[in-house]
Amino acid sequence: MIPTQGKKKWMQLPRDVVVGPDVIYDIKDVCDDLKLREGAFIVTGNNTKKIAGDVVFDLLDECGYEPAITVSKEASMAEVKKAAAQAQEANSKYLIGVGSGKSIDVAKLAATQLDLPFISVPTAASHDGIVSSRASIHDKGKKASIEVNAPMAVIADTHIISSAPYRLLAAGCGDIISNYTAVLDWELAHRLRNEPFSEYAAALSRMTAQILMDSPEAIKPDLESSVRIVVKALVSSGVAMSIAGSSRPASGSEHMFSHALDMVVPNSALHGEQCGVGTIMMMYLHGGDWKKIKECLEIIGAPTTAKELGIEDRYILEALLVAHEIRPERYTILGAGLTSEAAEKVARLTKVIS
Ligand SMILES: [Zn+2]
Repeated sequence: MIPTQGKKKWMQLPRDVVVGPDVIYDIKDVCDDLKLREGAFIVTGNNTKKIAGDVVFDLLDECGYEPAITVSKEASMAEVKKAAAQAQEANSKYLIGVGSGKSIDVAKLAATQLDLPFISVPTAASHDGIVSSRASIHDKGKKASIEVNAPMAVIADTHIISSAPYRLLAAGCGDIISNYTAVLDWELAHRLRNEPFSEYAAALSRMTAQILMDSPEAIKPDLESSVRIVVKALVSSGVAMSIAGSSRPASGSEHMFSHALDMVVPNSALHGEQCGVGTIMMMYLHGGDWKKIKECLEIIGAPTTAKELGIEDRYILEALLVAHEIRPERYTILGAGLTSEAAEKVARLTKVIS
């Protein structure tokens, strides 16, 4: 296996990215292409098992690839341990994460720990974790973003993904739009802290968000073409992160705000939804066109206010005040932190709170 944290930085990209209706039925071909046959270990979710997990199991079972399957309830360290132990017990040769995000995160980290290849089969497009080399895992009440091996392949069945609740797709758009402020933060850190910067990664990340911003009306419920746009954008963001060798191109102050919200009000809203709202406010702080971000999210039908996130106004302010402490080594527009007056001003002016 290729090491991810060696002395030199490697660009790890998925080898096969298959996007389209009913591509789940290509699972065997993808496995064959990767020379992965016997010994599949499938990690899936409670609901996603019926929709996709069982399909993947049956397809691999039919061709004698002796798959094993487990249902993981949450993206926690305990579930990662459990899945890794089961995969080892079954003498598995590779892992497949089939689900909306949690199962993918669990499978991704378990595969990295076991030093085995990993295939991502998302059933929703709500964040870029479906392609990225990071796993978001809960541990002892805290959410951690852990460096893992990028998936060898991504199989995104747009038919399955378009039957997931629209809210998830809209959240995925929030995660894509956050590339704007992430890149601005990265440029700032490059100028002020001489942090390594990749023009290619930044350009790809910005362009990905731009495509979505240019035609937000293309994202609608029950539309297969909308799913295709969002999935490709998430893949593109993942590639930008792989080129950079860090999450910098797609994660800046807006993500720190979202992580801060997770701490202040656990399980409040979806990651992408919170990042979208964060992008509006961080764009204001950058002096950019925050109104356009807000407008775009409104057209897509993603939340733009605390109320729409289902969060009390005071939590937004609390999160704004601690966001800079989330990843102190990651320099952003939040600098050493906002004063409470400044936090209130940005939240009110952007109408995130009323
Ligand atoms: Zn994200």
